Amino acid sequence: MQEFDVCVIGAGASGTVCAIELAKQNKRVCLIDRFDLPAKKLLVTGNGRCNLTNKNMSSEFYNQNIDGYLNRFNQFDTIELFERYGLDTYFDEEGRCYPISNSAKTVQFLLINQIKKLGIDFVQDEVVDINFENETYSILTEQNKSIKSKAVVLACGINNFSNTVLQKFDIDTKKIVPSLVALKTVENTKKLSGQRVSNVCITANINGNTKTENGEILFKDNGISGICVFNLSAFFAKNKEFLGKICINLLPKLQKNEIFENITKKMNIFEDMNDLLQSLFSKQLASEILNRADIKNEYKNINKNDIQKIVDIITNFEFNINGYYDNNQVLSGGADLLCLTENLESKKQKNLFVCGELCDVDGICGGYNLQWAWTSAIIVAKKLAD
Ligand SMILES: Cc1cc2nc3c(=O)[nH]c(=O)nc-3n(C[C@H](O)[C@H](O)[C@H](O)COP(=O)(O)OP(=O)(O)OC[C@H]3O[C@@H](n4cnc5c(N)ncnc54)[C@H](O)[C@@H]3O)c2cc1C
Repeated sequence: MQEFDVCVIGAGASGTVCAIELAKQNKRVCLIDRFDLPAKKLLVTGNGRCNLTNKNMSSEFYNQNIDGYLNRFNQFDTIELFERYGLDTYFDEEGRCYPISNSAKTVQFLLINQIKKLGIDFVQDEVVDINFENETYSILTEQNKSIKSKAVVLACGINNFSNTVLQKFDIDTKKIVPSLVALKTVENTKKLSGQRVSNVCITANINGNTKTENGEILFKDNGISGICVFNLSAFFAKNKEFLGKICINLLPKLQKNEIFENITKKMNIFEDMNDLLQSLFSKQLASEILNRADIKNEYKNINKNDIQKIVDIITNFEFNINGYYDNNQVLSGGADLLCLTENLESKKQKNLFVCGELCDVDGICGGYNLQWAWTSAIIVAKKLAD
């Protein structure tokens, strides 16, 4: 039976690149995935456009300090790497990097092209167990194959299988929670469901620790979504608990006194307060603001204190967070970096490597999670090629 130099488990972002770079160094590589094609998961990334990386790269966008790894393979190295695979990329105005085709299919196509060109053995099967005996790993699959290899790279993301393997080889895991996910609110938001509000400033507060994001939000039946909410969910994920407050400043470009003046000035233009607020917000949001302020709509009942109350609600539209939705983009937690060497090899188990999302590294939206997938894949491949 053929014995491989390296068996890469998981042909997602990190596993595929790791296998390609190893094969380029003449290593005999076996790449296994339960999907029929490598890099299949990439197709859903970046809304089908695959946000590969970001011009602005540093540990501040991650759950922990990974500067040591990024210094060895950064965003510009990613662009060069993919250029060598034949990919043209561009940065959008916010620094996000995409293929020029604006299609994740192009990225998958180029990766598969490399796999074919280098003659990498791609096996479609699910790995169910890994054993280590006589300096050799046996990788057991659902279809009853036993693949022999000198080294193993776990690039299969976080799931029951990978958790069991980490446990088996004594690699500690950090608590796993969803991240980049819509947040559930205690308050019922059904009346606002479907409403998008742009240019808001949103602050999460967890036991006095705060984090602020700017951008667009989208109300759901029982919660809020949007890229800035996803990014705040990473803050909750870092705390391993989805409990806290969210305050939205609906008009962050204006000072409170300017909003007060704006409302006062417009009172002779509109019939009532609801109409007036619709000059600034959607009908649903205007009603909700008045509802929260507990103010009758007609002007005759409205005094300066009431207007101030409306201003306070506009600048501090508050929700209590008590959970998250199911559609998380990443999982936070996983293999504790302290159990791995600087080359992401297990400190206790020789020739066992971990890369990608299975490591306890996660970032915010904008290409940061894929950058970690590429960075970790290259670090592992370089070490194994030595
Ligand atoms: C909807 C969505 C959009 C996203 N968009 C972006 C984006 O634009 N930019 C960004 O930076 N990040 C994005 N992400 C996150 C990014 O996709 C992940 O961080 C990244 O794919 C992780 O790479 P990985 O190699 O660790 O794992 P994955 O890419 O998840 O690959 C793991 C592979 O392992 C295989 N596998 C698992 N278990 C087994 C087993 N037992 N046997 C065989 N095979 C197995 C799986 O089939 C899979 O192919 C997005 C995620 C989602 C869900």
